[in-house]
Amino acid sequence: MAANRRHVLAGMGATLAAGALMGRARAQEPGRKFGYAIVGLGSYATRQIMPRLKECEHARLVALVSGTPAKLEQYGAEYDIPATHRYSYADYDRIRDNPDIDAVYVILPNSMHAEYTIRAAQAGKHVMCEKPMAVSAAEAEAMIAACQQAGVKLMIGYRSHFEVHNLHAMELARSGVLGATRIITSEHGFNAQPNQWRLDKPLSGGGSLMDIGIYSLNAARYLAGEEPVEVSAMEFTDRSDPRFATVEDRINFQLRFPGGALASCVSSYTSNHNTYRVHGPDGWLRAEPATSYTDHQMWVHRDGKTEQVRLPTPAKNQFVAQLDHLPEAIMAGTEPRTSGTEGLRDMRIIEAIYQSAREGRAIPLTA
Ligand code: NAD
Repeated sequence: MAANRRHVLAGMGATLAAGALMGRARAQEPGRKFGYAIVGLGSYATRQIMPRLKECEHARLVALVSGTPAKLEQYGAEYDIPATHRYSYADYDRIRDNPDIDAVYVILPNSMHAEYTIRAAQAGKHVMCEKPMAVSAAEAEAMIAACQQAGVKLMIGYRSHFEVHNLHAMELARSGVLGATRIITSEHGFNAQPNQWRLDKPLSGGGSLMDIGIYSLNAARYLAGEEPVEVSAMEFTDRSDPRFATVEDRINFQLRFPGGALASCVSSYTSNHNTYRVHGPDGWLRAEPATSYTDHQMWVHRDGKTEQVRLPTPAKNQFVAQLDHLPEAIMAGTEPRTSGTEGLRDMRIIEAIYQSAREGRAIPLTA
């Protein structure tokens, strides 16, 4: 990976920036929808993302990349993607020659995110990349640098930033109606099934924290509305459980924020959680499920009363809003709301969480 990264980074040039500018011009053509190539036709790509592309206002599915010819055939037929727009991993770099592809959406195992993002940038394409952005902060930095050098946008698939309950929670927590935020709890976990890449460290980069605990971390940060200055963590993994030969199971962590808020976060591969709470002197809010695909629920307690928050159904669900956001940012010439920098911040804190659990001490964080 490192040698490959050096290779692809070394190959970048000014022509890439020119290609990206053309991409921007094309995205602005009236009536033309922004074309995504999906890389990796696994569960999240085929069940959540590809069906939602049909609902987008600004985007559409134009190409597929997979190592499995049968999947290219099946989804190519289902989504009307011609053979000229179906690529193997070996063919991937040829996306450079396809003007219908504006961006690549990387939905591969975590340790492949950096390579496929950097190669997309090298081909002059904008990038949407799934969470976790990479398996280390160094890789995340290389991805940002590659996209900057190529003049393309990089966005991370943090879909909760486009979901109305989560947006409402951010607004409430930051508005002061609960008083200054004092305590945040954020819990995410599920019982991991055996025999999958998520449990294989070379592919996943780590266990529950990389996969699901990152939701606890990201939510604590967006609810606090500022960056933590210190982290401490504790891990427990039963190494006799064959699922956890190479990755961690539970790793809980605490974050201290400069404004005085403390966050307690759960990350688990052996228990089910999907909730957060924000407490201030004047009330609290609770979301459960908080960051699920659908069926979000939220309650607010103020003046001695607890009320369920009922929000109107938005015109765009979180997936559609996320997919439309990248072309919107390109057309506006702004950074995406969940840029590579947002992904890098999580990666740096994740590394500090692992370090804290390993060394049994709190780790200071720098911005
Ligand atoms: P998956 O196992 O269902 O799909 C992974 C895809 O990668 C498969 O098509 C597989 O064939 C392909 N692949 C290519 N090389 C591979 C290799 N060496 N080993 C294993 N698979 C290989 O996984 P998924 O659940 O779709 O997750 C893919 C990415 O999407 C991950 O980064 C994950 O964190 C992310 N994800 C995000 C969300 C979300 O809500 N944002 C939800 C699920 C997954």
